[in-house]
Amino acid sequence: MEYYKINYYDQFKCLADKCPETCCAGWQIVIDEESLDKYKAIGGSLLEGIDLEQECFYQDREGRCAFLRKDNLCEIYKECGASYLCDTCRMYPRHVEEFEGERELTISISCPEGIRLLLAQEKPLFFTHTRDEETEFFEEFDTVLYRFLKETRKELLRLIYDSEISYSELRGQLLGAGEILQSYTDEEDLEEVEAANLWQKRSLTSDFAGDYRREVRGGWKLMKVHCEFRDPGFVQMADQSLAAPERKETKKLPEFDFYFRQLLAYFILSYYTGAAYSANPLAIVKMALFNVELIRSLWQANLECEQPEEARELLENISSSYSRELEHSWENMNALEDLVVEELYLKG
Ligand code: SF4
Repeated sequence: MEYYKINYYDQFKCLADKCPETCCAGWQIVIDEESLDKYKAIGGSLLEGIDLEQECFYQDREGRCAFLRKDNLCEIYKECGASYLCDTCRMYPRHVEEFEGERELTISISCPEGIRLLLAQEKPLFFTHTRDEETEFFEEFDTVLYRFLKETRKELLRLIYDSEISYSELRGQLLGAGEILQSYTDEEDLEEVEAANLWQKRSLTSDFAGDYRREVRGGWKLMKVHCEFRDPGFVQMADQSLAAPERKETKKLPEFDFYFRQLLAYFILSYYTGAAYSANPLAIVKMALFNVELIRSLWQANLECEQPEEARELLENISSSYSRELEHSWENMNALEDLVVEELYLKG
């Protein structure tokens, strides 16, 4: 098995009771079979906190896990040790994408430490590579498309980190790249395609010539129709921020240009090769762009102070809150990919 890990993956360390958030509240934590068997073997009062029918932990009225103590530490971890955590709790915020014989691992920015680590990276993101002896075979897996996506992802990252292109220009070029990738995926024999030559052969001008801010507002409206949100406070903040008149770009915070590129790279590294299952790379490129544009708009609207530290903290909070709404709900991710971005950045 080949493992590809985002370069700062092994630096992650849970903040535990020092965390400003907790990942043990606000969403249903499903328990895997093996852990459930261990809990059943212990029995007694432990089972009072578990919904055996739904195979998940009960939550209190505030949505806190039944085993989350007042000091925000986990009762199961404290009493039984780390080996008794269920897969979901043990893995979070590590995100795994599965492909035949390969795993791609990233750290979700829904976790405050995950986003902090991402924005602390001063250089372009990359995957480290290791392998072990394990092998596997997926009955239906398009290896040719997957290889094409892996190769073209390198080109997308080159584009994202090209400092000769301003962030504003990058948006159009990224969309143009997505359109080219989609047309190759739809029409060409991908075994014959050389990823490194794609942009040279065709112009990177996108069919989209509209207003990016309008797309953010339109996309958010569609999300409200198709997605379910866990935090009404986030929805209210987004509604108010997007209804407010647009603020001028701040020139005092040049490093933020790089942060938005890091966020774009994060979404591309986390999800782009997933198009091996949908054959729709354009949707993933649009989704990455829309996510970052939405985060950027919310950040700009709420920026009250141009001190870099505070502005960065605001960006971390907004990115993390948005990710908590999106990345841990397959329904929301699918709705965004299938229903929302299909309507965005269209020609004319
Ligand atoms: S959100 Fe992240 S840092 Fe906070 S408790 Fe969960 S894993 Fe730890």
